[in-house]
Amino acid sequence: MVDITRADIDILVQLQKAETDTVNIRAFLQNVEAEKSALEDKLNEFKSAHEKLVAEFDIAEKSCSAAELEMKSNEERIEKSTQTLKTLANHKAYAALQREVDDNKKRRDSLENSYIELLDEKESRATALEEHFQQLQQLTEQIRSQQEEIDEKSRSHRLRMKEYEEERQKIAVNLAPWLLKQFNEISETSGGLAVVEVKDQLCRGCFMNIPPQLYIEVRRCKTLILCPQCNRILYYNE
Ligand SMILES: [Zn+2]
Repeated sequence: MVDITRADIDILVQLQKAETDTVNIRAFLQNVEAEKSALEDKLNEFKSAHEKLVAEFDIAEKSCSAAELEMKSNEERIEKSTQTLKTLANHKAYAALQREVDDNKKRRDSLENSYIELLDEKESRATALEEHFQQLQQLTEQIRSQQEEIDEKSRSHRLRMKEYEEERQKIAVNLAPWLLKQFNEISETSGGLAVVEVKDQLCRGCFMNIPPQLYIEVRRCKTLILCPQCNRILYYNE
């Protein structure tokens, strides 16, 4: 058993308060950072969906342009053949070219039909893209402002963190080095909670019953008593 005084315990309790503050604030900062990156992920997901819509619209637009070119060259063929027909005296050649003109006119109909379908497709893609773009803009704005709020909170909490750490150091200098070392070791393995009160014979760290003899020792406050269950430093509040 290691001898300690009531003053040591008082310092340990103060140190624990400062430690709890820093642990809480560190957890808070980790949470808000996680929240911030979750928002970023959500935005990136939406951006990927948007890029997909852009790519689909591009394909629809290119298909329309290709169809327009094909229609144009078909028209030119019809026009050219029709002009040539006027100059042909040979009956056989005339008939052959006339067939070709008729075929191209039939082709014109089917090209026009599929062009209308392609135009519809392009228009519906454009509408979907525009709607999604509006949503993306709204979401971007909303997420950016949420992230700014988070940054603001982080900044003020980081300042407080610094204050708590300074406070913790100020308290720690009053403690014997071996006791501080023990405090730090227990804090590290016990989630930042190294010093706990015993109340109603219960350890407030692990909520296990303290054996009667040990409880008396804790109340006497003459030696350093650790909880047999969770190994934290125990103290009794007079
Ligand atoms: Zn315990």
